Amino acid sequence: MIGLISATAAGAVARDRLAAAWPGRTRVYEGPVPDAVRAAFAECGQLVCFLATGAVVRLVAPLLGDKASDPGVVCVDEGGRFAVSLVGGHGGGANELARAVGEVLGAEPVVTTATDAAGLPGLDTLGLPVEGNVAAVSRALLDGEAVALRAEVAWPLPPLPVADEGAYTIRVTDRLVEPGEREAVLRPPALVVGVGASKGAPADEVLALVEGALREAGLSAASVAELATVDAKAGEPGIVEAARRLGVPLVTYSAEELARVDVPNPSDAPLAAVGTPSVAEAAALVGGGELLVPKRKSAARPAMATCAVVRRPGRGRLAVVGLGPGARDLLTPRARDELRRASVLVGLDQYVDQIRDLLRPGTRVLESGLGAEEERARTAVAEARRGQAVALIGSGDAGVYAMASPALAEASDDIDVVGVPGVTAALAAGAILGAPLGHDHVSISLSDLHTPWEVIERRVRAAAEADIVVTFYNPRSRGRDWQLPKALAILAEHREPATPVGVVRNASRADESSRLTTLAALDPATVDMMTVVTVGNTATREIAGRMVTPRGYRWQEETP
Ligand code: SAH
Repeated sequence: MIGLISATAAGAVARDRLAAAWPGRTRVYEGPVPDAVRAAFAECGQLVCFLATGAVVRLVAPLLGDKASDPGVVCVDEGGRFAVSLVGGHGGGANELARAVGEVLGAEPVVTTATDAAGLPGLDTLGLPVEGNVAAVSRALLDGEAVALRAEVAWPLPPLPVADEGAYTIRVTDRLVEPGEREAVLRPPALVVGVGASKGAPADEVLALVEGALREAGLSAASVAELATVDAKAGEPGIVEAARRLGVPLVTYSAEELARVDVPNPSDAPLAAVGTPSVAEAAALVGGGELLVPKRKSAARPAMATCAVVRRPGRGRLAVVGLGPGARDLLTPRARDELRRASVLVGLDQYVDQIRDLLRPGTRVLESGLGAEEERARTAVAEARRGQAVALIGSGDAGVYAMASPALAEASDDIDVVGVPGVTAALAAGAILGAPLGHDHVSISLSDLHTPWEVIERRVRAAAEADIVVTFYNPRSRGRDWQLPKALAILAEHREPATPVGVVRNASRADESSRLTTLAALDPATVDMMTVVTVGNTATREIAGRMVTPRGYRWQEETP
């Protein structure tokens, strides 16, 4: 029984929702809270307290005995945002309870015990069918025992803490195998079954053909991703029903598309009937891959169905993830999810340090130093092409003076690419300074390592003439000290000496500093590579110590 205790009206509402969701499993304890907690602790296997953790700690502390037999206690805050596993995480099942409560109430489960907090994904939560001794292998992973990964099919899996050798094994295969005692088998959806059928072909015939073909080729039906056929057969009842019974989608292609696919066994019959010399083989091969079962016909006489089986290579996944300017709470939830989803992380060592604690155990980290951009880009793409789930990280937004463009210049269309935007240094600095980017603005990098100075100067001049707010990235380093003064001088030809200039160093990092000065007063010597410099346009003003660029000139005219 799960004892429920609340003290406030909001707590009672959440309590009642939980009680309604779990009929017969909960008991509400009313009355004075201390008495209610004591009674529930004595009578129930688990408690959910809609109370502050501090209050619950004080109330249960004197009652605690043995972690194997004490009830598990979960606290839910007044706002219903968190379900905290407070005591009895494992023995009392509080970790599981926190997750379950979180699910019912839409609260974030908060679990702080080692193995759970390490964020090991359950083998049954990877989104792939899994067979074999899942419980034993999951337990081995949690206990830190050596578990070997044997991937016969490359597939972009999330990180798993696996070893080269181990008493336990996770096998990734589409083949029919008898899992061993200490083995779990993950079934990647690698197989595409192309099917063709004459009008009125019975579902039983189609299904028997497909299942027979898979069985004889030693392939598992659990790895079938889809049935594929020609558009004209999209509504053929036998095919539709076979797909339904296999639990896979039916995907169809136009006859022209199929006619373009090179197949080993073309024939005239389908050409006459639907306009392509092959349906089964062509539909299976349309997305590329290896033909494992060439076209075969059903056993019925006359045969009304054909099928062919192809193994498609697992498509690797490259996530290009912006980490934001530095502060953890400026890293987006989506970026965090992608970091935890990748089994290979590629990045500059100092950025890896910024997020290392978020990575799941088993993540392979490929870090390198400054200057190795091209190599990082190549490595990330190469890993994705091997079928891995890769995250390539950059500070701020990874598409801004960062890794996205070198990586995508290398990438081909055989991998999936996902971009996760980040808060750029210019945006972070803008928020610190006030509202300098309220109207048109550009970023210009003053690094002439990759760009000739003539090009940079031309762009600075254009921005100056067009009266656009400019944020300078890479403004000044030890070896590059004349570029910033030169760029400021160009802007000064078109803007007043009193034009506001914001200088922000280490935006959102521990040693953040910022100052507001003017075009005339800025001392370039105070600027370094950790800094961005934002120069206002002719309308930008300092208002109450903040840098403000009006949204439009009309506003400026109307505002005294
Ligand atoms: N992708 C990054 C830019 C990388 S280029 C982004 O979107 O922001 C590196 C330059 O960015 C540095 O030389 C500096 O000018 C600027 N920069 C990056 N992070 C910064 C921060 N937290 N504070 C100030 N400037 C920063």
